[in-house]
Amino acid sequence: MDVSVLVVGNQQFLAAFLNPIRTIMAGSVEASSCVGDVLTLVQTIHPAVVILQAREVGSLELCYQIKEHTQLGWVYCIWVDEQSDPLYEIMLPDRCHELAACAKALEGGADAYLRFTSIHTGEAVTTIAEYELLKAQIQVGLRSVEFYQKLQQTNDLLSTMALADPLTELNNRRAMEWDLPRQIQNARTHSTSLSIIMLDVDYFKSVNDNYGHQVGDRVLQLLAARLQHNLRIQDTLFRYGGEEFLIILSQTNVQEAQIVAKRLRKVVSDQLFNIDGTLALQVTISLGLASLNRIDDSQGESLVRRADHNLLLAKTSGRNQVVCNEL
Ligand code: GH3
Ligand code: MG
Ligand code: MG
Repeated sequence: MDVSVLVVGNQQFLAAFLNPIRTIMAGSVEASSCVGDVLTLVQTIHPAVVILQAREVGSLELCYQIKEHTQLGWVYCIWVDEQSDPLYEIMLPDRCHELAACAKALEGGADAYLRFTSIHTGEAVTTIAEYELLKAQIQVGLRSVEFYQKLQQTNDLLSTMALADPLTELNNRRAMEWDLPRQIQNARTHSTSLSIIMLDVDYFKSVNDNYGHQVGDRVLQLLAARLQHNLRIQDTLFRYGGEEFLIILSQTNVQEAQIVAKRLRKVVSDQLFNIDGTLALQVTISLGLASLNRIDDSQGESLVRRADHNLLLAKTSGRNQVVCNEL
């Protein structure tokens, strides 16, 4: 975020606010005298705080639009009202009017409501009380945006952790369950083909039993990297669980998917897995394939079931092979 504060109002309003704000904070300050363009401006410059002149037509609606916007709801909006005739206000302090305006502002989407006397003269916000209140409100706004951003970073991190497998750094099964329905919908919308491959390491338990769990872990990491390296740009690899992996192949029909599956089987079995220069192991995988058809459900459950079934056939037919059964 480059711009910290955006001030929106007529020339007198800008004259009253810009300089005091510049003395309050170090970040940059932008100004606009056209309420109509402000939403686009806010989307472009992402200010932390927007200060709006209440008298400008549409300024409260703008607060509402900012708050409703999924990407901008965190922007702190201060709605500034003015007392047009100070003498009149002193003689007849309309406390009810002020409270009603404040309620309207907060209900309308503003985060804060201020009422200042100095605006109509076009002079800077000069009285100490008004200046101090403005300063405090801007600080509240900056603090709240900073808090929001930290929360957002934590949420992003947690989402990444929830969808990533820590051992292989691949997407995990939860990520696959999120992605597959979307890929199915996309394939159906655009009338394109979609296939999946389920694969499982053959006799992996014996790797753990013979060389230890750590070597088993290393094999899974190397296998994940080798599979990933041999996939195309439109293929997505997931660790489905244990020593099982699932690949979504978008825009891929059954014949093309078979070619991919056969290539993967070969690149795994043909080259030994070098475990930290001390051990070279031969690993093989069994693969089951399925392609999306018209009667498959939208979540991909029947599709995954067919691929799993074909994987089982690959196992029972002797392992280290691809089974398709979809032609
Ligand atoms: P099959 O050819 O029938 O698939 O035989 P398998 O030995 O590969 O299958 P089985 O289901 O009997 O054993 C799978 C093993 O994979 C058992 C389990 O301990 C091991 N395993 C699962 N996840 C991990 C892991 O993250 N690290 C290690 N080292 N082993 C794992
Ligand atoms: Mg296995
Ligand atoms: Mg298994």
